[in-house]
Amino acid sequence: MNRPWWITGVKFSCQTGCGKCCDEPGGIVYLSRHDAKRISSSMGMSVDDWLARDCKQTYDGRYILKSRKSDGICIYLSDEKTCNIYQNRPQQCAAYPWWSENLATDRSWQQTKLECPGLTAEDAIIVDGNTIKIHVLADRQSTKGFKQW
Ligand code: SF4
Repeated sequence: MNRPWWITGVKFSCQTGCGKCCDEPGGIVYLSRHDAKRISSSMGMSVDDWLARDCKQTYDGRYILKSRKSDGICIYLSDEKTCNIYQNRPQQCAAYPWWSENLATDRSWQQTKLECPGLTAEDAIIVDGNTIKIHVLADRQSTKGFKQW
């Protein structure tokens, strides 16, 4: 990775009760193998049972979280716009807004700033470049995903 623009740090503070990044019909959450182990274990389920109950596969076979049939929103988002599995949430969710596609161009970053109030909040604090890099790599790993358990 060449020295990217964000390596000197970017201001951000996730806003309590916001939930905008999860509250998107048709959003896709790709899963890493580590996510599958961690989340199923937190629910006292086998990975296979959890994949069958809470996940589905994309057209190319990668596992993703299911969405609610009624509105197409993540099955784990509560009515209060909080994540029901926050402590064990998928690494792609934890990596937002530091997704490669968001950081890629000035245009995509400006769009991300419009979507995420945490990037322009008064209480935003600098997230250092190494932390951002960890999230970027985690997001890439998730996007690669897995097709078989
Ligand atoms: S959109 Fe930004 S501020 Fe809102 S919940 Fe997501 S990460 Fe936090």
